[in-house]
Parts: sequence; structure tokens; C-alpha cells
Amino acid sequence: MKIHEYQAKEIFRKFNIPTPKGKVAFSKEEAVAAAKELGKFPMVVKAQVHAGGRGKAGGVKLVKSMDELENVVSSMLGMKLVTHQTGPEGKIVRKLLIEEGLNIEKEYYVAVVMDRSSEKIVLMLSEAGGMDIEEVAEKSPEKIIKVFVDPLIGVSAYHLRQAAFGLGLEKDLQKSLMGILKGLYTIFVDLDCSLVEINPLVLTKEKNLIALDAKINFDDNGLFRHKDILELRDIEEEDPLEVEASKYGLNYIKLDGNVGNIVNGAGLAMATMDLIKRAGAEPANFLDVGGGASAEMVENGFRILLSDKNVKAIFINIFGGILRCDVLAEGVVAAAKKVGVHVPVVVRMEGTNAEKGREILLSSGLDLRTAKDLKEAAKMIAQLAKE
Ligand code: GDP
Ligand code: MN
Repeated sequence: MKIHEYQAKEIFRKFNIPTPKGKVAFSKEEAVAAAKELGKFPMVVKAQVHAGGRGKAGGVKLVKSMDELENVVSSMLGMKLVTHQTGPEGKIVRKLLIEEGLNIEKEYYVAVVMDRSSEKIVLMLSEAGGMDIEEVAEKSPEKIIKVFVDPLIGVSAYHLRQAAFGLGLEKDLQKSLMGILKGLYTIFVDLDCSLVEINPLVLTKEKNLIALDAKINFDDNGLFRHKDILELRDIEEEDPLEVEASKYGLNYIKLDGNVGNIVNGAGLAMATMDLIKRAGAEPANFLDVGGGASAEMVENGFRILLSDKNVKAIFINIFGGILRCDVLAEGVVAAAKKVGVHVPVVVRMEGTNAEKGREILLSSGLDLRTAKDLKEAAKMIAQLAKE
């Protein structure tokens, strides 16, 4: 789960990580009130959307007077912000963060992430922070410092010292950076995060280190332990189809292609997507209806795929084990009749009573095609999607 910058900064404050003074605003009136409260220009107006890269896309603006602030607020609220992380459809700006402006001397990058290959938590830092960190990681990876921490042992002073030393700061700033890193690590572990990031962490002309930006992603599997964090969820920022799917317990992720697929089991779903790609088409989604897929889940899956206007063909690939193929076939026919499927559907089923299942599909009177072989099915669906 993602949260907004203003929410992440509230969490930072609880863990003693310095942040600029600021307030969130949902309307122009609130923005002006927040600015009056802050009192001193320059201020920064920041679009609150679940995506980074706002600075380069016009979602972060420095303002020097109340007039300028009002203008910026008016044009930003309701605008569609397109950054390199939003995709071409962009995101509508509904909330703004009004913050005190800082005198920036230098921008650093600091983050705590999980490293799956070493099975450790990594403190990641760079003195080349700011808006181009992705480019730094790609072109000059030597500028990125990594300190690995065994999660079972936890973070120690020497990890923090090693990480802070790498940025080449003066003594007392190193100390304050160690405190910030300790705070980030504690947030990461205590709140079950998958990412905690400050980009940029700025050194001000007054020689203070302050988190100018804040990003926290949570591991969904840990959220049941954090009811208060679940309240920070902003459904308006999430893909509406994904929100709908989560209501039915479907593991659905929307993708950019045009071949919709309904599969039981995450491993089979991955393999199916690979085969669709190999056949020259692009999957429109990942959808795992689970090992014990029911007719109702297939029906919900159908409905969600059909409301994605990119979907030109649907591929159902089910291995009937817990769920027998004939029962599934009846479910597919019932769901297709109920929902009214208007795109070609290819069903590939294997397992218990597969033959009987295919017969049910073929004699249903619906435009359902069946395939025995997975590769053949993928070719068929790729062809249908092209037509
Ligand atoms: P992002 O582009 O979505 O990651 O948004 P950030 O919060 O990181 O802001 C982008 C950039 O805006 C920063 O790297 C800064 O250079 C600039 N910026 C943000 N706040 C201030 C501020 O208070 N003063 C100044 N001078 N620049 C700022
Ligand atoms: Mn940033």
C-alpha cells in the first residue's frame, strides 16, 4: 500500500526525523489558511498523488507571495499530473501540501529497502540525491552506498556510522544523519514497510538535515497488524478495477495489453502471461482466482476484465484439481451468459473431468473456444486479439 507524502511526513515526525513545517489542503481556502499559518514566504506547493517525479512534471512549485500561491493552487488543484511514474493517463491532483521553503545547499538520497537476494535490509544512500536518482543508479552505481543489515540481528551503531560516513558530512551532521537512519530503519521494521525513502534529504544553508520529500510503501501482508495505517489508504489514488477486484478476494493487477486472462494459481498465471507474450500478444492483466476457484469468482473475474476497454479477447486457463473441470465449465457458461461476454473467449482446462468440461463448453451455444494444449491456446488467443 502506498500513502501520500504528507502522511509519510507525519510518520517521520513521530520517529523524530526532521521535516519542513507544512499542512495538507483539500481546497483553495484551506491552502490559503495553511499559508497564513506558516506566515513566511517563500513556500512550496506540492501536488499529493501516489507517484514520484512531480518536480519535473510541474507538481512542485516554489511561490514567493500570497498572490502567486493562490494562482499556483488554482491551477494545480484538479489538474492532471503526468509524471514518469503515473503512466500516460496521469493522476488527478486532489490534495496539496503547503510547506515552508528551505534554503537548499545540497540534496542527498537516503532509503531503507529490502534486498531479496541477500535476504537483508539495506540502508541505501547517495550524495547525488534529488530528481535524477534513477539515472545515477543506472549510469554511476558507484555513487550509491549500500549497508546491509541482518533483520534478525537488527541495526547497530556501526551500520549507521558506516552509512553516514559514506556521505562525507561533518561530524555533527553525521550524528544527525545517524539519527535519521535509525528512525527510517525503525519505521521500516515496526510498520512492516517495503520501502522508506527520503529523496531529497537536504542540507540547508543553516546546516540542518531535513527530509524534503517522504515516501513510505507498506507490505500489504503486514497491514492486518496496523489498523491505524490502513486508515491512511486513499482509494481515489488506486486503480478502480484493482479496488473492485480486491473486494472479491481476487488477485488482480491491471496491465497494458489486450489479452485478458483468468487463471487459477499465481504460478500458472505467470506462465500463462509468458506464453501470451511469446505468442506475440500482451496480457491485459494478471488475475489469479486462487486454487479453489468458484464459478462466482470466474463471474467476478469476467466482469472486471470486461470493464477494461482494452481487453479484446479473454483466455481462461484453469487446472482442475480441487475444482473439477465440469463444475468449472458450468460456472463459465453461467457467468458468460449472465455477464454477456462480447469478446472471443478461449478456455483451456486440464485435470479432473477435463473432457466432460470441454463438452459442456462446446454445447453451450456460446462463442466459447476450447484448447487442449497451452501453447496452442496462447497462439489462438493472440490471433483473436489481433483480429
Ligand atoms: P518529486 O519530484 O515528486 O520527488 O518531489 P520532491 O518533493 O522531491 O521535489 C522535487 C524538487 O523540488 C526537489 O528535489 C527540490 O529541488 C525542489 N524543492 C522542493 N521543495 C523545495 C524548497 O523548499 N525549496 C527549494 N528551493 N526547492 C524545493
Ligand atoms: Mn522526491
